[in-house]
Amino acid sequence: MKRFVQLSFLCLGLMLASPVSMAQADQPTYIRTGKLFDSENGKMLTGYTLKIEGDRIAEVSKNLTVPADAKVVDLTGYTVLPGLIDGHTHLLTLDDLNDETPMADKVLFEGHALRTLRAAKRAKSWLENGFTTVRDLGDSGPFLDVALKRAINEGTVDGPRMFVSGPIIISEGGQVPGLLRPYREVIDEEYTIIRSVDDAINSVRVHVNYGADLIKICSNNSPNNTSLTIDEMRAIVKMAHRYNRKVTAHATSDLAVWEAVTAGVDGIEHGYQISDTTLTLMAKKGVVLVPTDISEPLFHKIYDIVDFQWDREKQMKRAKDQYRDRLQRAIKAGVTIVTGSDNYLNLEMPQGAAAKNVMVAYYEEGMKPLDILRSSTYLSAQFMGMENSLGVLKEGALADLIAVKGDLETHFSEALFDVAFVMKDGKIYLGE
Ligand SMILES: [Zn+2]
Repeated sequence: MKRFVQLSFLCLGLMLASPVSMAQADQPTYIRTGKLFDSENGKMLTGYTLKIEGDRIAEVSKNLTVPADAKVVDLTGYTVLPGLIDGHTHLLTLDDLNDETPMADKVLFEGHALRTLRAAKRAKSWLENGFTTVRDLGDSGPFLDVALKRAINEGTVDGPRMFVSGPIIISEGGQVPGLLRPYREVIDEEYTIIRSVDDAINSVRVHVNYGADLIKICSNNSPNNTSLTIDEMRAIVKMAHRYNRKVTAHATSDLAVWEAVTAGVDGIEHGYQISDTTLTLMAKKGVVLVPTDISEPLFHKIYDIVDFQWDREKQMKRAKDQYRDRLQRAIKAGVTIVTGSDNYLNLEMPQGAAAKNVMVAYYEEGMKPLDILRSSTYLSAQFMGMENSLGVLKEGALADLIAVKGDLETHFSEALFDVAFVMKDGKIYLGE
């Protein structure tokens, strides 16, 4: 009886409280912008106001009537953009540059609980740096990415919206060359190793069952020298597409890219060496390229941390020339560029800030600021089939948006890091 009374009071309390709190929750927020990035068309617009209702953008207009008592966020001194999308992350991994056995440390000593807690902190740094969405591509233990995604979605921890692959599907040995046979299970913790076409088919079912949003494979296993066969990759792609999942492939050499594209993948990660013939095939089949290039400031940081001074400038120039040449040829061939940082190294700065350096790298390699922003918003969302909800500021889209202080068109590399406001799902995480 006592319990019933308590419950009754509780219910009464909720009934009395609900009209007020619902009204507050329903109150739209109006955001006045200085410049606004039209990511679909790659243009800057001025003088627009956004109306946010719940987790969605209700209206974007120059002629919005803002009620006198409305909640208004004044971002007229800023450029407002859709939340950035990092298309290649490993939130569950942070390797030390001077650690010679990072895989063993992760699997044998860190453990799932500590690893996921650390990843939660890292995820927050992506959000605070303006990435409201990431595609997380493995190196995440046995579906710890799915767990982190759930924790973020339910509001247990703050982080970007995650689209996750689960473990990378890969051939013998994974990306760890020379691992002795008795320790095979160490690799099985981290990767989904397949040894036949039947294995390939089943691996996709396992991943879909455990909550993967997409499938990540390794066409070649660099730095290991094993690789999947075209038949294995073809079987994976066929199964993944049956379950409406995209497939993206780690592929570094021209042969690895060509084989993955021939097998029908949707995206290529890295693609450091790609011939014009393969780029033409990618463009024809609509396969995107995610160049995970390193910016000059990060090159210097890496050399400082490993204390490797020899021929620094020459080596950096060689790498940057190769990146630039490949990126420019890809753009010329009509291949869609999707932003992806692949940032899993401890660079003694917040990981989200380090990740943004990939956009600086594209800028150094001759891509125009507005094209880079389009790759980091609209084109990334389009690759995930989400271009009506993410990476755009238009009516009906999710209210994921950020504001930066400086001028992105004239001072791109500086303004990019001057994030003053972050909203995800209509909730403000940074700023007013
Ligand atoms: Zn990666």
